[in-house]
Amino acid sequence: MRFGRSSLLLVGASVLMAPRATGAAELTCPSSVTLEALVACIRDQMPGRSSGMFVAPAFMEMSAWRSVVSAMMYGACGSPLPSTLSPFVQIRSFRDADNGRSYCLLMETADRNGDGVVDRGFGAFIVDAFAERELSHQVSHPIADEGTETQAVTVFKRTRSRTFLLAGAHRDARLDERAFQGFSMSSDVAHNAATMFHAAHVEIAAYYGWRPWWAIQWHGMAEDTCERVDVHLSHGFDTTPAAGDKILELRSHLLAFEPTWRIGVAGSRVCSLNATSNVQGLLLNSAPTTFNFGTAAAPAARRFVHIEQHPGVRDPEKWIAAVMATWP
Ligand SMILES: [Zn+2]
Repeated sequence: MRFGRSSLLLVGASVLMAPRATGAAELTCPSSVTLEALVACIRDQMPGRSSGMFVAPAFMEMSAWRSVVSAMMYGACGSPLPSTLSPFVQIRSFRDADNGRSYCLLMETADRNGDGVVDRGFGAFIVDAFAERELSHQVSHPIADEGTETQAVTVFKRTRSRTFLLAGAHRDARLDERAFQGFSMSSDVAHNAATMFHAAHVEIAAYYGWRPWWAIQWHGMAEDTCERVDVHLSHGFDTTPAAGDKILELRSHLLAFEPTWRIGVAGSRVCSLNATSNVQGLLLNSAPTTFNFGTAAAPAARRFVHIEQHPGVRDPEKWIAAVMATWP
């Protein structure tokens, strides 16, 4: 049998196309041996700004994600994943080479078109089953709030906290202005409850119920935003904290170690970034067992701690001692 010229060209073209057509990959960050390297790797393979690559999760996928997060909170790490998630995500034990401790890791890995970016933007969740502090360190704006990913995971690791939660895409990977009561197609997980990030947050809150715990959300603001402060702390509403409040405690411990830092708190009028539309904050500031919005939170129930920072203060080393002193 003879091949005509056009057939040969077609064969050549299909060979050239082959890597793209069969390039489906599992992006598991196999060379990352510390939590910091792992989180940087996950950040570097997520949908970027204006990429349009974020895919909003389906309701069944969010339900499945919640069931896995719940099992992880109770210490399970080896159960098979639900079939709605297994094509996209991986659950495994992760050993940190710095401290030798093992963590349970849930992360999106599927890259079916082989472009080096995960397909959906689900993000990652890490549990320390032998934690000493009931704190959840959360990064809702990776890439955009530069440096907060590795800052928060280092604080998580060194303070022996329970959970670390990372959004799966740049907040502006997919813009959608049609938000309705906190639900939209947007990739900004701090303002969209229909995300894997929020689904995990809901499940963490359900795990604790009335028991004390705190969600610490690490953000970064531009140098020319809130110029009169370096750090701004709030609970997700614009009210001056009362004596004994955790954000006042955190501020005084930070100032003990970093006396030159200018640290604002909600209600002080020096900065308006009080996260009043943050959906994770709205959840925790409502009644913890029913999650009905609109119920005023008692001071004791202010579990949501929102941290805004200028670029120069995002060094985890400068936060660890203060976090440990505030949550001994
Ligand atoms: Zn932010």
